[in-house]
Amino acid sequence: MEKIIIDKLNKIFKERLLKAVDERVSYSYDASFGQHIPDLVVQVLSAEEVQKTVEIADEFAIPIYPRGASTSLSGGPLPVHGGIVMDFSQWTQKLEIYPEDLIIKVSPGVKTGDIHKLAEQYNLMYAPDPSSSSICTIGGNLAENAGGPRGVKYGVTKDYVIGLEVVTAAGKLIRTGGCTVKNVTGYDLTKLLIGSEGTLGIITEATLRLIPKPLDTMTAMIIFDDLYTAGKSISKILTAGVRPSKMEILDQNSINKVEDYAELNLPRDAAAIILVEVDGDPEVLPKELSVIKKALEEIGVSNVQVAENKDQEQKLWQVRKLVSPAIVTSGYTKISEDATVPLSKIPDMFKKIDEIKNKYNLNIVVFGHAGDGNLHPTINTNMRDEEEVKRVEFAVEEIFNYAIELGGTLSGEHGIGTMKKAFMLNEVGEDGLDFQKAIKKALDPKNILNPGKIFPEEGEKRLVLRNG
Ligand SMILES: Cc1cc2nc3c(=O)[nH]c(=O)nc-3n(C[C@H](O)[C@H](O)[C@H](O)COP(=O)(O)OP(=O)(O)OC[C@H]3O[C@@H](n4cnc5c(N)ncnc54)[C@H](O)[C@@H]3O)c2cc1C
Repeated sequence: MEKIIIDKLNKIFKERLLKAVDERVSYSYDASFGQHIPDLVVQVLSAEEVQKTVEIADEFAIPIYPRGASTSLSGGPLPVHGGIVMDFSQWTQKLEIYPEDLIIKVSPGVKTGDIHKLAEQYNLMYAPDPSSSSICTIGGNLAENAGGPRGVKYGVTKDYVIGLEVVTAAGKLIRTGGCTVKNVTGYDLTKLLIGSEGTLGIITEATLRLIPKPLDTMTAMIIFDDLYTAGKSISKILTAGVRPSKMEILDQNSINKVEDYAELNLPRDAAAIILVEVDGDPEVLPKELSVIKKALEEIGVSNVQVAENKDQEQKLWQVRKLVSPAIVTSGYTKISEDATVPLSKIPDMFKKIDEIKNKYNLNIVVFGHAGDGNLHPTINTNMRDEEEVKRVEFAVEEIFNYAIELGGTLSGEHGIGTMKKAFMLNEVGEDGLDFQKAIKKALDPKNILNPGKIFPEEGEKRLVLRNG
């Protein structure tokens, strides 16, 4: 990096400009793949600092990579073309609640879990609940449009953002939306920026919508003998007349990984389990679970175990929370996908993943947000085994292509990043891709905001997890 650039950044950031190799290495990866060491890292604490950095990046045409807690599973914050990583994790100053307006204003580095805790103190709820909420930042959630188990009833991040403060690629500070739920003044830029993976603007503040916290919850575990029926029961539950607040599925492989890891007395022989939560008035909840039970009986499913107290309920949800740690500690590298399909196609997707698992002889675990059709086929692989990695690449490609064939999508919530960009064309087509590129070009003509993400490079058609 040229000395003049370092001197300029030094004046703004002093000890918050990280130049040493060991410091920069810590910013070279996320929770997916690939390692790219940035030239510099700046730890920003204000919109003014973001603006000044963008001005320098614009002048010298250097890439900027926004980074929250780097829990991205799609390569979102990786500095693939070198340049400056802009670290937001220290910028947590603003976490202000306005209970009478049902809103919260936050700095981008605030952890999502801290927003949940503050809202709950006022009997309110910030609904989006990515499983990573105790570590990820709201900035990362906004950029990825994160979802979570509650998505089946409450939707995802974009449904709870009513205003943003953003630094543009030209270094201007703009505001989108405001403090009201209704706002149709001009284009809906808030929605455009959410899920744009840091490629269209840098988010410096957000105004989030809160809802009343449900009075109570109840949970049941449904145990299945075959995966196909488990898939079929998802639509059955959702059309029974009750809207579950969470509905998560674990296949036999996931159940056994969790059981190996934590010994929770789970049914190891079951083909799958579904965890269903209902929330609302405590007097109504048992009736709602009865409605679900009755609907399931119609398709021959009767093994439904209702948690009888809060302790049992918490244990059931712990099962879901432990899937990722259980897979990680079972060895090798975890490749987590999030292909999403229409609800009626979930049984087909399960069948296909099973075929792919056998065809490529891979260790694939399937779990996910059943109620959204958002499955997480997760592959455990040894990245040092070149031949196995090739099989993984083919398997992932087949999973993506089949999801698209079923009318689904490459990504329900993890984003495209570097991991799925080779497949963008398959889903959105050439004209659709050109339209998206035109937006990027208009808003970031020098391509300085998170370049190398979302859009395939020239000729890039396949997923490559390992070179050589
Ligand atoms: C164990 C585990 C469980 C997970 N569970 C879920 C889940 O249930 N649901 C889900 O949706 N995801 C989940 N994820 C994925 C991940 O946590 C989310 O994508 C999360 O939103 C990333 O937040 P982050 O702070 O780590 O952002 P990072 O990973 O640092 O960055 C993510 C993206 O946001 C951009 N970005 C960050 N800050 C800003 C900003 N201020 N302005 C503009 N762009 C910015 C980055 O450039 C990057 O493109 C999980 C990940 C793990 C490891």
